[in-house]
Amino acid sequence: MSASASQPPAPTASATDPCVHCGFCLPTCASYRVLGTEMDSPRGRIHALKAIAAGELTLDATVASHFDSCLGCFACVTACPSGVRYDQLIEATRPQLNAPELRSPAQRALRRLLFALLPYPQRLRALLAPLRAYAGTPLQGLARRSGLTRLFGPQLEAMERLLPPLAPEAFSDSFPLVVPAQGSKRARVGLLLGCVQRLFDPQVNAAAVAVLSANGVEVVIPPQQGCCGAVTHHQGELPQTRQLATAVIDSFAAVVGPGRPAGDAPLDAVLVAASGCGHTLKHYDAILAADPAWAERGSAFASQVLDVHQFLQGLGLSEAFSAQLAPLSHADGTAATAERPLAVAYHDACHMLHGQGISAEPRSLLRRIPHLLLREASEAGVCCGSAGIYNLVQPDEAAELGRIKAADLSGTGAALVASANIGCTLQIRRHLEEGGHPQPVLHPLQLLERSWRAGGGQG
Ligand code: SF4
Ligand code: SF4
Repeated sequence: MSASASQPPAPTASATDPCVHCGFCLPTCASYRVLGTEMDSPRGRIHALKAIAAGELTLDATVASHFDSCLGCFACVTACPSGVRYDQLIEATRPQLNAPELRSPAQRALRRLLFALLPYPQRLRALLAPLRAYAGTPLQGLARRSGLTRLFGPQLEAMERLLPPLAPEAFSDSFPLVVPAQGSKRARVGLLLGCVQRLFDPQVNAAAVAVLSANGVEVVIPPQQGCCGAVTHHQGELPQTRQLATAVIDSFAAVVGPGRPAGDAPLDAVLVAASGCGHTLKHYDAILAADPAWAERGSAFASQVLDVHQFLQGLGLSEAFSAQLAPLSHADGTAATAERPLAVAYHDACHMLHGQGISAEPRSLLRRIPHLLLREASEAGVCCGSAGIYNLVQPDEAAELGRIKAADLSGTGAALVASANIGCTLQIRRHLEEGGHPQPVLHPLQLLERSWRAGGGQG
């Protein structure tokens, strides 16, 4: 493996040394779970990296396919007793996998298409606008039942299966530049909307803004913000990731500061309600480290980033907000249910749990909702199969993981599933529905907001 100026060096043999081949990571590994082969496990990949570094193995298309089967969920990092930083190893390996000879023309074309679309909300909107007459309508149900969608091929069928109903608000960003704090101001934050989240689940950002404002937080939402680069970052597409990252930093700098439209006062934090995005935003220091013009700004920006649950738990829900929390309604949050307590299964997104070490904060916030009872899945730390674009480029393995996750979550007996990452939400919704389980999947902030409104909160 060779490194170019725009790529980090490939992992060295010494970076793999701490692995003692104990295999403790194997039961938590999503790819090993569905493929069952050593080469598709963390231990097998580390062994391959050692062999490549020693010149005993060539990174050809077959070897590369065993790295491509990795979901980048980092469950192995959490499980490893020897402190092996597999996350760093795979991050350094991914750019090498993008060499043209390592993937088929069809694979390369699909990736090019995804990287040209997913990080650009305006392009996605143009593509999705005609599909409003299809998504979530009886026509979609008919197309699926008739087997028509299977004719698209596995990758396009996977995309169609994830396509949710498209809300009108998905097609424009209607937030004001500054949403004022209700009551006395306790903090001032920026909010990154996330490119996939704002299209496929725009109510999540609306709920985040409402909850923050109701807790005395002023929210600045730069109108020109684009994608944080998570989709390309997780696939080792570094030049595009750097370009997206610098554009995000510029979009905040354009509105916050002396003489800028959102005011002089600095932000206390930059928040995000999609954990895949949060993980990448927190790595802007490393992503931009090699660029002298951006290294300092990347590091300063990354140091401000917090997941919205982290921030709210640290700030503490205000007394006025807490006093208005009321029992949740069932299902979509509008139809009342006699079910008390209302059982909710919280799904740990991998980039939240393993990537950022966040598990207690969302649970703690959810417990503030009266009569809400949290149920735990038996394999909470195992990936649902979404993993960025994994469920589009490796649809069979991802679908198997989705079925396992849906069965685990529905097996809790919970009436609702809470998920704080848009990719997981779409994947889990699909597989709950296909498995005949009717549980809705909502973001924890949506549950908090609905509880607050049920108690008379307004914003
Ligand atoms: S990565 Fe860690 S848990 Fe996995 S085999 Fe190596 S030492 Fe063991
Ligand atoms: S990142 Fe996830 S899929 Fe990849 S080796 Fe680790 S546990 Fe397995």
